[in-house]
Amino acid sequence: MSYPGGGLRNQLAHVGAEAVRAGLVVGSGGNLSARAPGSDRCWITAAGSWLDRLSPTEFSLIDISGGEFQDGHPHPSSEWRLHTETYRRRPDVNAIVHLHPQVSVLLTALGHDIALLTTDHAYYLREIATVAFEPPGSIDLATAAADAVENGVNVLILGHHGCSVLADSVELAHKRAVNLEEAARTTYAALLLSQGQSARIPEVPARFLDSVQREEAKI
Ligand SMILES: [Zn+2]
Repeated sequence: MSYPGGGLRNQLAHVGAEAVRAGLVVGSGGNLSARAPGSDRCWITAAGSWLDRLSPTEFSLIDISGGEFQDGHPHPSSEWRLHTETYRRRPDVNAIVHLHPQVSVLLTALGHDIALLTTDHAYYLREIATVAFEPPGSIDLATAAADAVENGVNVLILGHHGCSVLADSVELAHKRAVNLEEAARTTYAALLLSQGQSARIPEVPARFLDSVQREEAKI
């Protein structure tokens, strides 16, 4: 089956339902946004919306540069600044998936890197950045997150909180978010099998990582 069409809100509703089904977020945690390429407005999930039950009326429309909420739509998630600040710094990004994936957050809190064990992990994630805890919804968190991804990194762990995953399309952001938590779960299993020694976790061979960095790899 190809990825759903029907506009950005329909695609984000698909991400929300699949993210809950895959255990990447619990209850109404997390929020999703997207913009048309080049647009200064983004759709973002409304405050209090449940990600597995998103209808087109449960999205807010925000002016990215001015931070104004457009009339006729519900109030956005309290974490809207995390999205707008990143869009401002990254004109190439058209979708942001912010979830609360438990194993990714757990490993980072314990000081373990998430290993790129498979070709999928390396291809979709490439590099995982982290930022220290700042309160959810705060300007400090939005600024720290934007600082961390300004150089082109697309996968970010927010300490003790969740992830912010970026891409030029909703579909690719979705794939990256799924691969992030899968890589974390695989790393978790590897740590158990190697008795907590991160150094014994074998990553995908360097020659594949190198080809990913040069954008030659195909999956
Ligand atoms: Zn959050």
